[in-house]
Amino acid sequence: MKTGFISIALFLTAAIPAAAQRPPPGTGEDHTQLVAPGIYSVNWGDMGLNVGVFTGSDGVLLIDAQDEPAVPRLKTELAKISTAPVRFVIDSHWHFDHVGGNATFAKEGAVVIAQTNTRTRMMSEQVNPLGGKQRAFPAGAWPQITFDDSLSLHFNGDDITVTHVPNAHTDGDAIVLFRKADVLFAADLFNSGDYTRIDPRGGSIDGMIAAYRALLPMLDDKVRVVPGRGRVAGKKHLEEYLNVMIALRDRVTTMMQAGLTVEQVVAAKPSADFDPRWGNGPIRPDQYVEEVYADLKSHKN
Ligand SMILES: [Zn+2]
Repeated sequence: MKTGFISIALFLTAAIPAAAQRPPPGTGEDHTQLVAPGIYSVNWGDMGLNVGVFTGSDGVLLIDAQDEPAVPRLKTELAKISTAPVRFVIDSHWHFDHVGGNATFAKEGAVVIAQTNTRTRMMSEQVNPLGGKQRAFPAGAWPQITFDDSLSLHFNGDDITVTHVPNAHTDGDAIVLFRKADVLFAADLFNSGDYTRIDPRGGSIDGMIAAYRALLPMLDDKVRVVPGRGRVAGKKHLEEYLNVMIALRDRVTTMMQAGLTVEQVVAAKPSADFDPRWGNGPIRPDQYVEEVYADLKSHKN
């Protein structure tokens, strides 16, 4: 881990069960998966972050650009898929492990696109209320095109909708739907094997739930969902995780209203019945419960 990113890195990796450890940037088993014609998910290992690659006659579009140390390896994987130039990079949000390749690809001619808040966050140091910080990125890494609510791209024969989902994982989340290919890149709104973080800098459990409720009716049963981390999933997995979030929000709210402290709520293990299915990643169940509690507490009044 680079020291410039140390705090968030620790935030992500502290006290992870050995079996669930995420490979360090640029290591782990290669895993490039063809999701639909011309659309790939590139990652390293089960717990690796998924980068979206869309290649065709217009060139290459990326969804996220990995963290900086992993960029050379990402480029090696890209070269196996296509030798066409990267024309666009869409940042799903501002966390360092999604925007680390911005400067490299922009320098080579790509246009970087992101939600307005993502660009703003990248321009200055981001201090985590729970401790730690993410560095300010240099100007060469800042997105050149921003949008507030949504943006459409017509590229490689598909119609691609990039939609901002407010106050969910962060305050700058963008999900990407390939309308013809019927593929959704959900980024860190969904992990197919573990709980998704709620960043207190703009994220919220209510925003996550609202996002799923708005999104699900727009998807058909055949849609392929590429998660932020983990294997490609489907609509039913999103529905399943929505129910997990609703149940946990309600359980933690009830305990909080009964006067329980965060320690008491964590000790009561409100996520226990979901943990075998969703507690398999870097985010420990008790850590997730703490985040839900802190979020609900901050929005209580
Ligand atoms: Zn994230």
